[in-house]
Amino acid sequence: MRAQDRTMRVKIRSLVQQVALACAALTVCVLVFQNLAHSVREAGEGERASPTFPVIHGWPERAPRSLNRDYELPAGVDNGVAAGEDDGSHDEGAGMEEEEEEEEERRRGLLNTLVATATTKPATTLDDIFISVKTTKGFHKTRLDLILKTWFTLARQQTWFFTDTDDEDYQKKTGGHLVNTNCSASHNRRALCCKMASEFDAFLQSDKRWWCHFDDDNYVNVLQLVRSLAEYDPLLDWYLGKPSIRAPLEIINRDNVSQRISFWFATGGAGFCISRSLGLKMIPIAGGGKFISVGEKIRLPDDVTMGYIIEHILRKKLTVVDEFHSHLEPMRFLNTDSLARQVSFSYSQYGSEMNVLPIDGLQSRLDPTRLLSLHCLLFPSISYCAT
Ligand code: UDP
Ligand code: MN
Repeated sequence: MRAQDRTMRVKIRSLVQQVALACAALTVCVLVFQNLAHSVREAGEGERASPTFPVIHGWPERAPRSLNRDYELPAGVDNGVAAGEDDGSHDEGAGMEEEEEEEEERRRGLLNTLVATATTKPATTLDDIFISVKTTKGFHKTRLDLILKTWFTLARQQTWFFTDTDDEDYQKKTGGHLVNTNCSASHNRRALCCKMASEFDAFLQSDKRWWCHFDDDNYVNVLQLVRSLAEYDPLLDWYLGKPSIRAPLEIINRDNVSQRISFWFATGGAGFCISRSLGLKMIPIAGGGKFISVGEKIRLPDDVTMGYIIEHILRKKLTVVDEFHSHLEPMRFLNTDSLARQVSFSYSQYGSEMNVLPIDGLQSRLDPTRLLSLHCLLFPSISYCAT
């Protein structure tokens, strides 16, 4: 009996020892994995803390054709930052905190999207959209004709052209949708902000749920624009578009020139859309022509001014919609299998090189921008598409 007891005790002890050993091994494994995961995360954070993209002062990644010298501070004003250098005003820790906050805000934005798409929202139709196209007298013939021949035919009632002259011929061609803003016919910041102010005020006057701005070198895929907007509730605040820079723009805070303000903006040349709810919140700052004064204050072009008002003043985030495309992107990299799912396209010419969609169709002599051919790809039954 005692011998049996002893054997039993020995067996139990060895079992306990084995279990303890297993536990110890498991703990070691967990610790090793935790450590590994931590160092991987740290490495990732290290990358983010010293971003691959340099902090952007000014506007280096887009042709700053409308960025006048008047953006620069007067000589003698110490802006606390040597050109092209980080001002060092925020230490690394503060930078990280800001990044985390921004990350959190973006997550909240995503949540907003999810909630918005999950709840019942009014069905979106083309008639819910006020489409404004910025143009100028010199481009009526060269650019509007192409729009009138293509996507305008699908949104005649909803699209308005904002120009800087009276033009009887194009007033007729656009079905009375040509607006003379009386802004000056130039590509400077003032003229561009003046037209944007006019577009915004016209949207406010309309009863539309959405405002979408485009340039006159955009092709708008009207069907996809409606489908894309249908994903968002216009009763919530939405600023939809695509930035053309890889980090938030950093500008001088003119109320305190030793400080910087940073924000994202949707590049105007790709088009952007704003919900009525957000538009209404913009009224005290930008309504009734006040948009121009904001542009004057920050001395930056219309699309940057829009980002400043929405992201910096109103603290609403830009939601990036990848389907908007400006000619600041190389058009040849667009996936030609998914053209019907893109919202906007553009074209441009740099010297002798054309930045256009790489698509077959009409001869390039007849269709140098490739936008007629794009229209044919999307709507093959159109008469001029038969070659
Ligand atoms: N634009 C304008 N006045 C001008 C030149 C251009 O209103 O004197 C408009 C033009 O119609 C277009 C937008 O500004 O809608 C951008 O012009 P563009 O495409 O020529 O230049 P980008 O800024 O794209 O390089
Ligand atoms: Mn352009």
